[in-house]
Amino acid sequence: MITQNLAQLHQEIQIYQKASSYTLVAVSKHQPIEKIQEAYQSGHRHFGENYVQELVQKYHQLPKDICWHCIGALQTNKVKYIAPFIYLIHTLDRKSLCDEIQKQGKKHNRIIPCLIQVAISPEETKMGGCAFEDFEALYQYAKTQSHIKVMGLMGMASFTQNKEIIRKEFQSLVQLYQQYPEFSILSMGMSSDYEIALQEGANMLRIGTKIFGERL
Ligand SMILES: *Cc1c(COP(=O)(O)O)cnc(C)c1O
Repeated sequence: MITQNLAQLHQEIQIYQKASSYTLVAVSKHQPIEKIQEAYQSGHRHFGENYVQELVQKYHQLPKDICWHCIGALQTNKVKYIAPFIYLIHTLDRKSLCDEIQKQGKKHNRIIPCLIQVAISPEETKMGGCAFEDFEALYQYAKTQSHIKVMGLMGMASFTQNKEIIRKEFQSLVQLYQQYPEFSILSMGMSSDYEIALQEGANMLRIGTKIFGERL
């Protein structure tokens, strides 16, 4: 079932895809290990989790060549648990988090790849994500950290049926992204809005329910 869902999703992505390549992050939060194993056996390697405890548990239970993405709001005191192995943190949104990622990166002798999460919708402002006006200062600060590598941007559109609102929010992130030629990752698009995200130029998608079904 999951293997088929993934195959179908890759086909659909190709219809809307504007970027030259893409990475599909299978969002496995609150999904049982067996479902992740099925995706893994079909060749999938990128998985995203929101909660650090769950992420660390799954990291220990599953093959070590999985690329784990942290896509949820990240508490500073939890960075130490993921620093040794995390593939990409999507939710860097404040200086205090930079400081902690830098500290843990140094400790584990890793340069930790991150995306800066920008609040593109009113909901996101509540859940995390830096404001547009704070982006430049945060990015400049992150750039001075030897053990952080900012690879690009992440954003979440409003939970609305209104596609034009979603499109405008994605466009606001694309506009920012295009100002930084050094960026290579634009993470936007979930089960409900990935078509729009792709049309606007997303090259990393975070999709859960469309691959795994409803969460427990
Ligand atoms: C849960 C989650 C997703 C995936 O949501 P689906 O609707 O299941 O595709 C993507 N991004 C973030 C940040 C999430 O928390």
